[in-house]
Amino acid sequence: MGRFSERVTLEFITVLEIGDLRKVLMSACLLGKKVRYDGGALSVDDQIVEQWRSEGRIVSVCPEVEAGMSIPRPPAEIFKGSGKGVLNGGVDVIENDGGKVTNEFLAGASIALNLCRKFAIDIAVLAEFSPSCGSTAIYDGSFSGKKVPGMGVTAALLREHGVHVFSQYEIAQANTALLATSS
Ligand code: SF4
Repeated sequence: MGRFSERVTLEFITVLEIGDLRKVLMSACLLGKKVRYDGGALSVDDQIVEQWRSEGRIVSVCPEVEAGMSIPRPPAEIFKGSGKGVLNGGVDVIENDGGKVTNEFLAGASIALNLCRKFAIDIAVLAEFSPSCGSTAIYDGSFSGKKVPGMGVTAALLREHGVHVFSQYEIAQANTALLATSS
């Protein structure tokens, strides 16, 4: 089956509830959706997230799946650079079999940014270490498990456009930022 044959259009962009409260963009895998490259999730068990969910604040997205990548899919890493370098050009995202998926990662980042614009979102909680969603550290492109400081492509694009990006380890900080100017 081809890598992009399982195109999932908008299935993993989920607006859990539309309301008046200020919203938060979250990585779909953190919400229990099995969208990771290995078909798994990275669910967080957190009271704050449950509160956001009950208030209808969460908009979830998996940039990679939204860009047409399949589940499962080969693991991918940014090769010798970070999300900023991918946005600026000259740095690629590669799969462990050598396939280049830079364009898919850029497309997924644009979809996430469009969601932020649509719902006036300026707070995001994204999955750390992902070549899309990582906000502090990512894998180094050697597929050896080594991490380096840097951002994934989606995190870099959102930050470039003024979105405050936190990881799943910074949910309390994200909540503080959310409530500081929340309606
Ligand atoms: S880290 Fe981001 S791109 Fe990767 S599975 Fe989770 S939501 Fe999708």
